[in-house]
Amino acid sequence: MSDARRPSHVDILIEDAHILTGDLMRPSIPHGRIGTSGNRLVLVEAVEDGPPPIAAQTIGGRGMLAIPGLMNVHTHSVLSLMRGTAEDMGFAPAYTKGVPQGHVISAAEAVALARLGALESLKFGSTLINDMYVHVEETLPAMAELGLRVVASDRIHDVDFSRVSQGLWVYDAAIGRRSLDRCLALADRYQGSFDGRVNVVIGAHAPDTCSRDFLMEIRAASERHGLRVSTHLSQSKLEVDFIQEREGCTPTELLDDIGLLNDRLIAAHCIVLNDSDIARAGAAGINVAHVPKGNAGGGMIAPTRRLRAAGANLALATDNLLGDMVEAMRWALCIGRLQAGTVEPDWQPEDVFAMATMNGARALGLDGELGSLVPGRKADVVLMHIDRPSFVPLIDPLGNLVHCGQGSNVRDVIVDGVIRVRDEAAVGVDEAAIMADAQKASENLWRRAAA
Ligand SMILES: [Zn+2]
Repeated sequence: MSDARRPSHVDILIEDAHILTGDLMRPSIPHGRIGTSGNRLVLVEAVEDGPPPIAAQTIGGRGMLAIPGLMNVHTHSVLSLMRGTAEDMGFAPAYTKGVPQGHVISAAEAVALARLGALESLKFGSTLINDMYVHVEETLPAMAELGLRVVASDRIHDVDFSRVSQGLWVYDAAIGRRSLDRCLALADRYQGSFDGRVNVVIGAHAPDTCSRDFLMEIRAASERHGLRVSTHLSQSKLEVDFIQEREGCTPTELLDDIGLLNDRLIAAHCIVLNDSDIARAGAAGINVAHVPKGNAGGGMIAPTRRLRAAGANLALATDNLLGDMVEAMRWALCIGRLQAGTVEPDWQPEDVFAMATMNGARALGLDGELGSLVPGRKADVVLMHIDRPSFVPLIDPLGNLVHCGQGSNVRDVIVDGVIRVRDEAAVGVDEAAIMADAQKASENLWRRAAA
């Protein structure tokens, strides 16, 4: 950066960190400096580029890896409720008997659990989550108050969810209208709120839980209100068989037919796809919310390499599991290699790092603002300990991050120019109370589900 453009004053200065910028022009700065002003990055340079500017607040970066905030593009924070249990049941909770279902969760319970999920995400370095579930009017502000960016939606469907786990798909237009209207009201109220940290999308639950007519209403609402659509797509053979029976086509063909298969769609999982589906999804440039660990835990692998080659944008997510995006990067790397049966030069740590950062921002239409550490972008920065045994030797920090790192290595998190995690603690947040409330809500819900 030329001296003329170097700021003389910054709000937050991070001095002497190893920066992984996510910017292909200059991906790594071993002794780097980052400065923020307001909610923007104004300085990303090497320490030797000049003297540090005057700073209102300085954070020591030595022994730290600085990365862009991680973008978790598909979560259900309330379903942190399922942690340690649903992973071993073989199916998504909404379709599973004997587990607490969305329609029995109270607003207070949803808030308690959503705060837990959002707190975990933030402390693991996710500065943005794309979260879909019930009671969003209550959970959205409760999550956003913790300081991270929240893209939120109601769980939108016209199926009667109280019967799906019993194997019955009964559609009711009134249920659909209520859930879509609630989401549009949510957008009216919250789009751009919390200093622009909150966005609303239309979270169409899945092709099988939305009738064809209702999916057409969703497409029309998306166009009318300029809202992206987030959904589950081809997450199981059951869904694909069901749509084949109901529509005579695949779920991907159904969405294409309706006009939802486009570059504004965020489609979670995309596992059970045929060759034609992959070509369609790629040609449409859809955004795939790849959930590598969750899928693998269910014995499934999404055809990520073929989806990317076809033109889809691959981004990463943790769904309702442990919200560790570093782990998601590692699993995505391994899943791609299992498909290739070898290690290829085009499926490397930098590829999964891009999925967790820039591609996630792109999936949400925020790639001009987020996903890399470049002056002018929003100031979302994560500092992770590399002064730990798993980062020694430090020859290729990105390799260490993807192969040896953990979300729990995160020390500090800045979101929108505000320090939200400092020395591994969420600033101004009673973490113990959040954990206790979530534990109590979970015990109550599991007890009711068993009864
Ligand atoms: Zn999901």
